[in-house]
Amino acid sequence: MPEQGETVLGESLERHAGGKGLNQAIAASRLGADVRLLGAVGDDESGAWLRELICADNVNDEGVATVTGPSGTALIEVDARGLNRIIVVPGANGHVSPDVVGSSIRAMHGVAVVMTNGEVPLAASRAALAAGRAIGALTILNPAPVLDYREHLVDVDIFVPNEHEAAALSGLPTETDTEARAAAQYFYSLGIANVVITRGAKGAIWASASGVVDVKTFEVSAIDTVAAGDAFCGGLAAALSNGYEFADALKWASAAGALAVTIKGASPSLPMRNAVQNLLK
Ligand code: ADP
Repeated sequence: MPEQGETVLGESLERHAGGKGLNQAIAASRLGADVRLLGAVGDDESGAWLRELICADNVNDEGVATVTGPSGTALIEVDARGLNRIIVVPGANGHVSPDVVGSSIRAMHGVAVVMTNGEVPLAASRAALAAGRAIGALTILNPAPVLDYREHLVDVDIFVPNEHEAAALSGLPTETDTEARAAAQYFYSLGIANVVITRGAKGAIWASASGVVDVKTFEVSAIDTVAAGDAFCGGLAAALSNGYEFADALKWASAAGALAVTIKGASPSLPMRNAVQNLLK
């Protein structure tokens, strides 16, 4: 890592597409859902590249605005020991308009699921959830990064934090099975109908009116855990939109999450429908 004022030579440079909205949209589309992404890219080269990528995966990009300035970007420095330092520049994501998001969703018909996360302004994710509720869709919030989502919760049907986010948002520990169950129960007690805390190789915990249950993982050899959560969320949304019961949708989500850790990278690791079906068999 360079010190202040210092220049060091790097060994390699890679560019990967993201962030959560893009990954989750691609994940759901690859699993057979009909997906529209709402958001914004910049008028830079990355913006055109990101738009091309989602279109190549059959994600409808009509709701993705192009705004002046850079696309949302995370600059990740990794040193020889594998330790990293990250600067996130929200860029275009910071300009996603709550009014446009809300009115776009309200104008849609036949939408089964509206899913959002914290990589757009809080007012925009808030508007997406409210509009999703208004048109009778199931609403999913993946509360990442950790922000103050308290005002969102009234319009959330399904809350999907990972164990670290769950701990930070509840102030409760989530390390052990018992602790994670108590944290899921805590969010449920706030009035969220379905709480799913993902726990990497330990699986997930689902709290609902039927109680708190463990969601098993599929055993795989993990190579790179990047985008497991995005594959899980995409899998859950796709399965619910295809009419699966919640418990079965969680199996789809877990299988998608498991397959995502078997391949390096974010979007390259998001599984196709037949891969998930084979694992489920
Ligand atoms: P995030 O990427 O947001 O931190 P997690 O690491 O909790 O999300 O992973 C999401 C889900 O993906 C888990 O609940 C699990 O179902 C699946 N998963 C993640 N890592 C593994 C693994 N090593 N083996 C099997 N399944 C995994």
